[in-house]
Amino acid sequence: MLSYRHGFHAGNHADVLKHFVLIQLLQYMNQKDAAYTYVDTHSGAGLYALDSGYASKNAEFETGIAPLWDKKDLPPALADYMDLVKALNPSGKMRYYPGSPYCADKVMREQDRLRLFELHPSEIKILSENFRKLDAHAAEQGRRPTVRGKRVIISDGDGFESLKALLPPPSRRGLVLIDPPYEVKDDYRRVKVALEDALKRFPSGTYAIWYPSLNRQESRQLPDKLKRLPSKDWLNVTLSISGPTPDGFGLHSSGMFILNPPWTLMATLKEVMPYLVAALGTDKEANFVLESGAPVTGAGTNLRP
Ligand code: SAM
Repeated sequence: MLSYRHGFHAGNHADVLKHFVLIQLLQYMNQKDAAYTYVDTHSGAGLYALDSGYASKNAEFETGIAPLWDKKDLPPALADYMDLVKALNPSGKMRYYPGSPYCADKVMREQDRLRLFELHPSEIKILSENFRKLDAHAAEQGRRPTVRGKRVIISDGDGFESLKALLPPPSRRGLVLIDPPYEVKDDYRRVKVALEDALKRFPSGTYAIWYPSLNRQESRQLPDKLKRLPSKDWLNVTLSISGPTPDGFGLHSSGMFILNPPWTLMATLKEVMPYLVAALGTDKEANFVLESGAPVTGAGTNLRP
């Protein structure tokens, strides 16, 4: 179960979709002064080197962040994401890629809270070390450290199970990212069970679920199962950079399913998704799907390029 290392996939097309959307969700949360809690149930290592170690093996970032690196015409929402990645690479060379905890830490404010879960003993060590370095850097610049305060808590618990105790958050404002490896098919079931429970405890929370579009039954069925959860306000976006590979292996498509999304997200995705398809697509089957269950945008709106 713990063979998955996200480093192999860092910066690929699926990370681009996930992290760009995550940043949009956090920026929307920032629009109100009241503090909020961000829960990352499956955090990974937080930060990845692209020019060494796992990421350099298959160079999956060539399918995602690399083709966007030199673009001068990014839509504003993608430019925000790229600014965050570039700030991590001040030399201008693409060397490091931010994971979801790092993206969150950068966008969130001092009053907000990060609750990060990671089960893999090596990954949590790296995650903790990365946040220790961020603290040291903050201290050098005269800013308050994050980890030693209450702002960031990193735990080695099971993210699905641990979510229960955190909902609802004290401020009644919260965003949860659920991003399991899906290497075991039980992850698909656990996503749905965790959300059923979470929606009972905290129905107004925003929940973002990343999922792969794979040629296996559990994967094909997941979006429909999420649409049938008791929250009618959802948005589903998928990005396919090509048609399925002939051998059926390899991730060519993934999605983000968001429960209680910001009302602004649909318009942002309508602008960004065609751009991503054009920039990252590798064959004629590259496409996106954008659907919404929200009454304001029309029930079951389904947009294809
Ligand atoms: N969210 C990260 C990002 O976007 O940068 C990537 C996370 S990666 C897809 C999934 C991570 O979940 C792996 O590091 C794996 O070790 C961890 N993991 C697997 N099962 C878990 C569980 N039940 N609870 C917490 N972490 C788990």
